[in-house]
Amino acid sequence: MSLHHHLPAHEVVLLVETDVAKGLASDEAARRLERFGPNVLPKVRRQGPLIRFLLQFHHPLIYVLLAATAVTLLLGEWVDAGVIFGVVLANAVVGFIQESRAEAALESLAAMMKTEAAVRRDGRKHRITSAEIVPGDVVLLESGDKVPADLRLTGVRELRVDESALTGESLPVEKADQVLPPETVVADRKNMAFSGTLVTYGQGTGVVVGTGTETELGRIHQLMGETTQLATPLTKKLASFSKVLTAAILGLAAVTFALGLWRGRPVTDIFMAAVALAVGAIPEGLPAAVTITLAIGVGRMARRHAIIRKLPAVETLGSTTVICSDKTGTLTKNEMTVQAILAGDRVFDVEGAGYEPVGSIVEAGEAEVEAKAEAKPRPQPEPGLRDVLREVLLAGALCNDARLIERDGRWTVVGDPTEGALLAAARKGGVDPDRMASACSRVDAIPFESERQFMATLHRLESGRDVMIYLKGAAEKVVGLCDRMLAADGTEQPFDPQRVLDRAEAFAGRGLRVLAFARKTPPPGADRLADRDVDGGLVFLGLQAMMDPPRPEAVAAVRACQSAGIAVKMITGDHALTARAIAGQIGLDGRTDQPNGELSVMTGQDLAATSREALPDAAERTAVFARVSPEQKLRLVEALQARDQIIAMTGDGVNDAPALKQANIGVAMGCGGTEVAKEAADMVLTDDNFASIAAAVEEGRCVFDNLTKFIVWTLPTNMGEGLVLLTAIAAGAVLPILPVQILWINMTTAVALGLMLAFEPKEPDIMRRSPREPSQPILTGTLIERIVLVSLLMLAGAYGVFLWEEQRTESIAAARTAAVNVFVMVELFYLFNCRSLEHTMFHVGLFSNPWIWRGVAAMVALQLLLTYQPIMNRLFHTVPIDAVAWLPILALSLAVYLIVGAEKWLRRQWDAANQRRPRTV
Ligand code: ATP
Repeated sequence: MSLHHHLPAHEVVLLVETDVAKGLASDEAARRLERFGPNVLPKVRRQGPLIRFLLQFHHPLIYVLLAATAVTLLLGEWVDAGVIFGVVLANAVVGFIQESRAEAALESLAAMMKTEAAVRRDGRKHRITSAEIVPGDVVLLESGDKVPADLRLTGVRELRVDESALTGESLPVEKADQVLPPETVVADRKNMAFSGTLVTYGQGTGVVVGTGTETELGRIHQLMGETTQLATPLTKKLASFSKVLTAAILGLAAVTFALGLWRGRPVTDIFMAAVALAVGAIPEGLPAAVTITLAIGVGRMARRHAIIRKLPAVETLGSTTVICSDKTGTLTKNEMTVQAILAGDRVFDVEGAGYEPVGSIVEAGEAEVEAKAEAKPRPQPEPGLRDVLREVLLAGALCNDARLIERDGRWTVVGDPTEGALLAAARKGGVDPDRMASACSRVDAIPFESERQFMATLHRLESGRDVMIYLKGAAEKVVGLCDRMLAADGTEQPFDPQRVLDRAEAFAGRGLRVLAFARKTPPPGADRLADRDVDGGLVFLGLQAMMDPPRPEAVAAVRACQSAGIAVKMITGDHALTARAIAGQIGLDGRTDQPNGELSVMTGQDLAATSREALPDAAERTAVFARVSPEQKLRLVEALQARDQIIAMTGDGVNDAPALKQANIGVAMGCGGTEVAKEAADMVLTDDNFASIAAAVEEGRCVFDNLTKFIVWTLPTNMGEGLVLLTAIAAGAVLPILPVQILWINMTTAVALGLMLAFEPKEPDIMRRSPREPSQPILTGTLIERIVLVSLLMLAGAYGVFLWEEQRTESIAAARTAAVNVFVMVELFYLFNCRSLEHTMFHVGLFSNPWIWRGVAAMVALQLLLTYQPIMNRLFHTVPIDAVAWLPILALSLAVYLIVGAEKWLRRQWDAANQRRPRTV
């Protein structure tokens, strides 16, 4: 048992041979990685391949087939027994391979989701993947992080950790750096942070004492194992439907058997008839098709930057009616440029775009216009004002965790883009952030959190003795903390908060994101910063307003969602006016009760003032929600769900987790989001882009379409075969198709033809339909009618051709061969009908799914083998048929294609006519 909790922190540091201030040296870290291996848990499969293969036989239908094999063996029909067993085996192998591939696809998705962690190495902070962490690493934790390994904490600051993954305790545990008695149980080890747990608040530093399997989670993991879940509500529903159907069909087969016995027919014949009925009527390909279609959908979504964490989301996505999206970074580019500054009650324009520190800062207004007109040198702010401007820029540069880096002439930001913009602005104004950061070293900080809406840092100034607090945040928040301002002449004076807020609103009205800056002189020698140190008495320095342009692809995606009947709502922590301006640029639509037709916005305050009863209505009508707190996001989700909306909701912060869990589809940001949000989400975006949500919805709809297409394609064959057999049995005639032939039809066509529908591309109008009702059954009345129609056509066609061929050739084997070919060829032609449920295949493009053509070629080859290859003839009781026999087979198949085409055409005409009919109230 490890006793790291029982030792003082400095002894643990010695034990793992590290240095808290500097961290490990990178070469030492590399050596340790070699020695201890990567910090990952080995994959544990609950079932080995053999068990999973054997499970393929755990299916009622397979039991029937195995029983059939046994009975045919007893009857001495070696060939039939072999064929039936061979088909069962082949089916199990195909099922095993397909399932393993689907699982592997899902697992590789899980591997795409890498957890990152901040560590101190070579004296600097780095972000590395958690797999690279080694014992002795110094890990820096902050709220939203997933603890990457077992740590002995060396420093904490209100650190709270959700340890439910480990201990089951749902309330976060407050951590402390203290020595604990050796017998302390895991759940009470307050001086440790365990791998896999989530930081919900505060910060902490700790040294790694265990990685990979040497962690507490590693120990449990080995006990529990982990499996990829392939089940979704739909697969479960289909599985239980299949069970009921199987039971019914087996019942029918038993009745057939009894009937046959009673009539005194040979036992062999009636047994075979009963088996044929069971085999033919059960849609055995269905469960596999569902799993595969889902897996293909998941893969397509991943390629479009949406990673599914919980499989049921694939189904729900197709029914989404509302998408609630963050603004910054999701609808906008998150590329911030400061465009305006307020300092000393004067407004300055900042030139340039992006993070490149090129451009000057000039006072806005007439002076500049005049200067341009007369081509005079630009007016420089007077000396006092210049200092005030400098102080605003300095506050932005110091109260900042980001870094700008230049690579090949391109400037990029490491960290929060809002802060990157402040660094670029500082440089434009002649303040060098790097130099100032080392001159005015940071002593302590209160990090930015959305709920707090500000960040503050404590600095030791250049003089060495003086200390200063700099604070930045949302204008309303910061102004409320200030009682004076830095005036244009550099003196601290009383100020009018309303005037500042008006200025901020003017910036926000232009779609700019506004940050306010303030400072405060703490008592000399202060070395800690707490919330109470900044709860009043600050000096207001100024504002910086930055542009964050909308993502062009988000604009297009919003339009696509709107035409797909999906409402898009923006839920942001930003200012109401900024939010409204950006929403206007993006093209959101919602209620406008403004005289100028602008969108109306609900703020967090409005939400707080709205009653529970009134909220659903307000939430449905409003498209923009600003200054919203995470708890309010949860209320919004609940309010919309009260109206039966299916909601996809984005989130990135720790406190977004409840809303993400409550939403029908919680969407977390892969780049900018916290691990806590990702854990709570159903889907993670790898590019944080709104367009990817719209893409996932589109793919979700496609998955449903393709599943429906498969079902509509497969059921007529089962019904058709069932009807042919029932008719024959009822008439006391010979069976037009034998059990082994039915097995052949069902197994080969499902794999070679039906599964190809899983690869169907999206139909062009997929985003012009309204969302699917979640309660709506997969098969609508129209589709059921089509299934019955095709089943009857198959019955008539196969029986008709069988009788005709029997009469023509006087060979039952030839007649049966022709009947088998009718089934397969009708299925083949009908497959093209099923490529679109409403339109012709030309609507989706003749060659848009190459798999269909490969499948068709394979199927034709298989049919020719079955018909003309002597061994196949022996195994499946077929005989070669002549060219004349093919004529009715092909004519019939084409006729089915044309009849179903005509049926669709008639329905389209009918629908169009009905929609055009004037509404009568
Ligand atoms: P969303 O991503 O939800 O659309 P947002 O990113 O604009 O919204 P928050 O990050 O919650 O919202 O920011 C809310 C407000 O806090 C901003 O309007 C800004 O004034 C202020 N703010 C944002 N980032 C920082 C920061 N790094 N430091 C200080 N204040 C900040």
